[in-house]
Amino acid sequence: METIKLDIVSGDYQNGIKEAAHILKKGGIVAIPTETVYGLAASAYSDDAISRVFKAKGRPQDNPLIVHICDMKMLEKVATDIPDEAYALAEKFWPGPLTMVLKKSDSVAQSVSAGLKTVAVRMPEEKAARDIIEKSGLPLAAPSANVSGSPSPTTAEHVISDLDGKIDAVVIGNGCKIGVESTVLSIFDGKASILRPGAVTAEEIEQLLGKVDVDKAVLEEPKSSEKVSSPGMKYKHYAPKTETFLVEGSIQAFVNFVNKKDNALAICFEEESHLISSEKIVYGEMSDKKTLAHNLFSALREADNFKKESIYIHAPDKAGVGLAVYNRLIRAAAFRVIKL
Ligand code: AMP
Ligand code: MG
Repeated sequence: METIKLDIVSGDYQNGIKEAAHILKKGGIVAIPTETVYGLAASAYSDDAISRVFKAKGRPQDNPLIVHICDMKMLEKVATDIPDEAYALAEKFWPGPLTMVLKKSDSVAQSVSAGLKTVAVRMPEEKAARDIIEKSGLPLAAPSANVSGSPSPTTAEHVISDLDGKIDAVVIGNGCKIGVESTVLSIFDGKASILRPGAVTAEEIEQLLGKVDVDKAVLEEPKSSEKVSSPGMKYKHYAPKTETFLVEGSIQAFVNFVNKKDNALAICFEEESHLISSEKIVYGEMSDKKTLAHNLFSALREADNFKKESIYIHAPDKAGVGLAVYNRLIRAAAFRVIKL
C-alpha cells in the first residue's frame, strides 16, 4: 500500500485537512499530529477501521484506544453519565493533554475500548487534529502512531520510519510541542486516579479536585497475574533495542559511574554533559522537565544508532512533569533501575 503524504506545513493546509477527513470517512487510517505525540487515527464508530489500526501497529488486542474529540457535543456522543468533575476538568484543561476515562456510550465501537465498559476521551490542543475531527464529523480513536513497543513518534519522520506502507496517509505537520502522551485520569464515584502521567500534572489536577491517586502501575512493573486499571501499562514500551538502564543519583555520582563504563552511551543532562567522556545524547537541563519530556522519545530513537553495548539514562526527579518522564524511562529500561 502506498502511504499518501499530506504536508500541511509546506503544502496546502486546507487541502491536507480535507483529504485526511475524506480518507477517515471512507474507513481509512491516517497518522495525524497532536501536541503530545503523532496519533494513528480511525473512526471511533467503525470496528473495521479500528482493527486496521491494531494490525498496522501490532498492538495487543486488549489495549484500548483514546478517542479524540473537537467539542463538548462530541463528548456527549461518546460518553454517558459524565460526572461534574469531568466538566470542570474539561473547562480547565481542554483542549489539551488530559485524557479522561468515562462511561462508554453504545455508539463507540467495542474494539476501541477492548471490551471495557469505559472509554478514554481527549480534546487535543493541536489545531490540525481538531480541524480533521471537525471536517470528518467523527470522533477519532488514535493510539500513538508507532509500531507497538517502540518509542512514541514526535515527528512525521518517526511515523514514516515505523508505518510507511502500512497506513493510508500521514499528515505532515509541525513537531509535537509536548512530546509525551497525555495524562490518563479515571474518575469514578468521585475518586480520581492517574493511570498514566503526562503534561497535565497530579499537582495541577489536585488544585481542582483535591487529592488524586497515582495508580501503582505508573512506577512499578505489574505482575503478569495482576489486573491493571490501564491495560497499556503492562506492556513493554518505548524501548531501544540496546540494553538500557535508568540511573538515579546526583550529577557527580552519574558522571563517575558512567565514565567507568566501556562501550556505553549516556543519555544525560545539559549540566553534566561536558564531564562525561563516553558518547552521549543530551536531553535537556536537569530541572527543565518540559524540555526533557519534549526530547525524550527522539533521544530513545536515536540511541540505537550509536551501536553501543548498553545505554545509561540519568533520571530526573519525579515532581511535576518529571513523573511522566520517569514513567516512560522506567519502561524504556524494562524496570532496570540503578540507584547510586
Ligand atoms: P496510547 O494510545 O499509546 O496513547 O495509549 C493509550 C493509553 O490509554 C493506554 O495506556 C491505555 O491502556 C489507556 N486507556 C485507553 N482507554 C482506556 C480505558 N477505557 N480505561 C483505562 N485505560 C485506558
Ligand atoms: Mg502508545
